[in-house]
Amino acid sequence: MTVELVNTGSELLFGKILNTHQQWLCRRLTDLGHAVLRQVAVPDTGESIEQAVREALARADLVITTGGLGPTCDDLTRERIASLLGRRLFPDASVAENIARYFAGRRLTVPARTVVETMVPEGAEVLPNHFGTAPGLAMQVSPNPFRPAGAGSWLVMLPGPPRELRPMFEQILLPRLKSWFPQSEGFVCRTLKTTGIGESSMEEKIGEPLQPLVDAGMELGFCARVGEVDVRFVGRGPGAEAQVAQAEAITRGLVGANIFGAEDDVLESVIVREFQSRGLRLALAESCTGGHIANRITNIPGASAVLLAGYVTYANASKIRELGVSPVTLEKQGAVSEETVREMALGARRVSGADYAIAVTGIAGPSGGSEEKPVGLVYIGVAGPKEVTVLRKVNAFDRETFKYLTAQQAMMLLWRAVVAPE
Ligand code: ATP
Ligand code: MG
Repeated sequence: MTVELVNTGSELLFGKILNTHQQWLCRRLTDLGHAVLRQVAVPDTGESIEQAVREALARADLVITTGGLGPTCDDLTRERIASLLGRRLFPDASVAENIARYFAGRRLTVPARTVVETMVPEGAEVLPNHFGTAPGLAMQVSPNPFRPAGAGSWLVMLPGPPRELRPMFEQILLPRLKSWFPQSEGFVCRTLKTTGIGESSMEEKIGEPLQPLVDAGMELGFCARVGEVDVRFVGRGPGAEAQVAQAEAITRGLVGANIFGAEDDVLESVIVREFQSRGLRLALAESCTGGHIANRITNIPGASAVLLAGYVTYANASKIRELGVSPVTLEKQGAVSEETVREMALGARRVSGADYAIAVTGIAGPSGGSEEKPVGLVYIGVAGPKEVTVLRKVNAFDRETFKYLTAQQAMMLLWRAVVAPE
């Protein structure tokens, strides 16, 4: 089964917003074993939308469009697709009800323009929108006038806002996809999330031991991102489950200490989950990361049960005042030193009453480095009930990457201290 994606929105072509639907949908569809063969972004003009959809329908079994279902004059997807397929539009009561409920819940009156969102093309199924007003729409185009020999296709329109599109895909569309396109053979996709090891070292370690499985048809993939490498196994056919399970076991045996999670896990979510389940509390003492670790931890639901405090102690004076770092240490060893990070971590743990504290201090650059302490130098400390562990790294990157990578290393150090002590 083949899929094509049509992302509508002039902002995408102006470079005003990043086309995250492209990445997100391709990834979800791939994980489900469906091949996305082509993707196109088009401006919000009726003609462009119509042409892109006509071309996609001429090739694909499933065409998904995103955006342009709202109530404004640049929202043309629904009307243009209906007219392309010669389908009339009818008002749908369930959509009108959802819209009324949406605005009533916000103590607002229903804007008159939203009436266009209640219009549903003949024969289309409404995909309810639990997070907005414009519903998604799904229809079978069969026979498909643009495809040779009467082959049919499915056409799905999803709304533009990501917080509407993603849950609609997961909750509403996914079960339908499974019934429209049942997987005839087994399909298993497994992603292991690793950190603290580069992609080439990873491949060196696991490539050869996994080769027999790859020879037997399993796909092995690596995806490197800042401070992380994803290892992906894809198995197809009757033995897929066993093949992927075996690959996972081999990989865990070889690089288990680097595997912090699977699928969509991120270090911060794994940390919040582990701390929650163990009833532990965390504190942060951040200098060079400026609150970045606190930001990432607090992005995770449930963080309030875990995070007691985050201190952004950028100046020496605040390291002394907030965390009780010794002025003598700062004077003799410097703010970026093993001793300072140790005192920061111990101070954060003591002042907050947390079980564990992370501390970071470093030189983000571009200036401020020296021979002995180069730009990118960072000390990371984790203070726990028993000991303080310190890591020294040189992350010589731009400031944003420096913060991100330092946060990765700090969270990895914490994760190891709590979950996987070696
Ligand atoms: P609305 O009812 O909000 O108008 P819509 O279905 O008409 O929704 P659009 O108007 O095309 O969708 O997009 C609404 C918003 O959704 C955009 O301003 C943008 O922030 C986001 N968006 C749309 N398409 C994409 C995309 N491909 N990637 C990321 N974000 C997107
Ligand atoms: Mg819109």
